[in-house]
Amino acid sequence: MKVVRLKKGREASLLRRHPWVFSGAIEAVEGGPESGDSVLVVSHDRQVLGTGAYSPQSQIRVRLFCFHECEINKEYLALVVAEAIARRKHLQNDPERDAFRLVFGESDLLPGLIVDRYRDFLVCQFQSTGMERWKPELVQVLAELTGCRGIYERSESAARKREGLAAAEGVLYGDSPPESLLVREYGLHLEVDIVTGQKTGAYLDQAENRRLIRPYCSGGEVLNCFSYSGAFSMAALQAGATRVTSVDSSGPALKLLQRNLQHSQSAAERHTSVEARVGDLLRDWQKQNRKVELVILDPPKFADHKSHVIKASRAYKDLSLQAVKLIRPGGHLVTFSCSGAIDLKLFQKITADAFLDAGVQGEIVQYLHQSPDHPVALTFPESQYLKGLVCRVTG
Ligand code: SAH
Repeated sequence: MKVVRLKKGREASLLRRHPWVFSGAIEAVEGGPESGDSVLVVSHDRQVLGTGAYSPQSQIRVRLFCFHECEINKEYLALVVAEAIARRKHLQNDPERDAFRLVFGESDLLPGLIVDRYRDFLVCQFQSTGMERWKPELVQVLAELTGCRGIYERSESAARKREGLAAAEGVLYGDSPPESLLVREYGLHLEVDIVTGQKTGAYLDQAENRRLIRPYCSGGEVLNCFSYSGAFSMAALQAGATRVTSVDSSGPALKLLQRNLQHSQSAAERHTSVEARVGDLLRDWQKQNRKVELVILDPPKFADHKSHVIKASRAYKDLSLQAVKLIRPGGHLVTFSCSGAIDLKLFQKITADAFLDAGVQGEIVQYLHQSPDHPVALTFPESQYLKGLVCRVTG
């Protein structure tokens, strides 16, 4: 087997079952592995640390499948995928939901593989050389284990570029996804566009939060910022919001939202869509002295990397500051960050600063998190990325 030997003393993180080997930790590469080849990772004194996939162009030179010596083949991958599916058994049997994440990369010991299930269609992202190498086998395994009608690839090109892989998209198995697929989420019928929608078609990581925020919507006016296809808006309408305004800068997202309004039982006459930049809308509403009971902020990732944290913190703070100014006392701000580089402690501080600057008092009444089908491996804190706060404006 091809071997990656680490520098002296660089085995500590692997012994703690963290699955990445950075290029700087490597002493020698033996046997000439090529991109995606399986390699045995050993310490300086040749103690076995695990088996991983080699990625010669990435800073993360090896991503580990497991922490022992192991032959990676279709049978091995079938077992690991079956375990990931078994861990989500409760979701498969949940009559309230038929869309959820089936495989979440490193958290499921399939580094770089994302699989989202939308009813009987799967959407995959192959974001590492190891997963790319085993793509045909993984597709077969997924088809066999789920009995799905089709598997579609929507790999993110930026992540693949870092691994030296070209962008990839298209049907991998079975039928092409329909243009519109309706999925169930706690009483809502949401349309997913697998081929041209954002991400793999929907933001499944927010599914649980869209349920949890409902009590704060009832009987009040809601402003849903960065709405995408309006899933939070539909939840708010269903929960009895008197009026919901959704704002997003993407025209196609708002077209999808319009179709979601038609599918839902919720009264479309209580809803308004605005195609605009959120910052502009918040300032306009302040000028008009408009007030609401609830503002939801779910912006795209502001910090892709640790080096962007300061700039991103300012952007998060400004958003919350502008939003808080619109909320009536007794109302709530629901604010999210999906930047892994911004941790909960920092996000809480940013939010506290925004309240202070707005001259408003508040308290956190609920902490929110990525949905449980996106578990955080205790040994891989990088898998924790989505955090949210429900803050009550007290005065
Ligand atoms: N809350 C959504 C997901 C939001 S994703 C859900 O639950 O499904 C972030 C959204 O922000 C995208 O739809 C993107 O089009 C939009 N967006 C990005 N920058 C924006 C800006 N400056 N103003 C308004 N919308 C923006």
